[in-house]
Amino acid sequence: MLELKHLSKTYRTGDQALTDIGFTVPAGQVVGLIGPSGAGKSTLIRCINRLVEPSRGSVVLGDTELTTLRDRALRKARRRIGMIFQEYALVERLTVMENVLSGRLGYVAGWRSFLRRFNREDIALAFSLLEKVGLAEHYNKRADALSGGQRQRVGIARALEQNPELLLVDEPTASLDPKTSRQIMRLIQTVCRERNLPAIINIHDVMLAQQFSDRIIGLRAGEVVFDGKPEELTDDV
Ligand code: ADP
Ligand code: ADP
Repeated sequence: MLELKHLSKTYRTGDQALTDIGFTVPAGQVVGLIGPSGAGKSTLIRCINRLVEPSRGSVVLGDTELTTLRDRALRKARRRIGMIFQEYALVERLTVMENVLSGRLGYVAGWRSFLRRFNREDIALAFSLLEKVGLAEHYNKRADALSGGQRQRVGIARALEQNPELLLVDEPTASLDPKTSRQIMRLIQTVCRERNLPAIINIHDVMLAQQFSDRIIGLRAGEVVFDGKPEELTDDV
């Protein structure tokens, strides 16, 4: 479970990106975070894993208050959060399998020397995840030989290899065509349901958000202007 309480962010430039955000995401719930450009969606996602420092408020994951953690404790806590990015953030010259295994090391990794640390069980898990996302036969291909949709599947498998308690997903379909976008959203929804994993997906495409989320949170100028079921969403959000 993830709980945000009175979360606010004012950037040094004076931009107030978030104002007093509070909500709880229970296990297994997929939240589609929508809102116009500049609404604060990326800031919200980044405040949760502290890529951006919140100005006020708290973020609680399970029983851990994330906002006060430092250094090693923060790095450890971040490993409990799976990240999926718009531009996939794969290591291009590494193979699909190596990219997935790098999920274990935190999300910036990819040195071959590190990969020697993995045992048979890690590799078996990575392989089963690649089967799950439909890429098992491509395990030994370099990331730069894949299509956009395939890359994002690797990104999903890598996030799951961490065995995360939460998925944070930042515009996962922004670089994909409509059909592939739907496949990727469906896959994220499926894995969250199967693993009872909560997720927050920053997605500007409202139709996709409605189709593949359990709950929609609408932001505007840093405030929550809608929080409800996808089918309850009206045009003025
Ligand atoms: P969204 O993801 O919904 O497009 P953002 O979180 O990127 O919104 O931006 C919210 C507000 O914060 C905007 O006014 C934006 O200009 C501002 N902002 C975002 N990042 C920074 C930054 N690094 N420094 C200063 N202002 C920022
Ligand atoms: P997507 O919409 O998933 O990004 P693309 O239009 O990029 O798909 O690719 C369509 C097909 O071409 C895919 O089946 C993919 O396997 C193949 N493909 C794309 N880029 C490459 C590449 N650099 N090397 C080999 N095959 C590729």
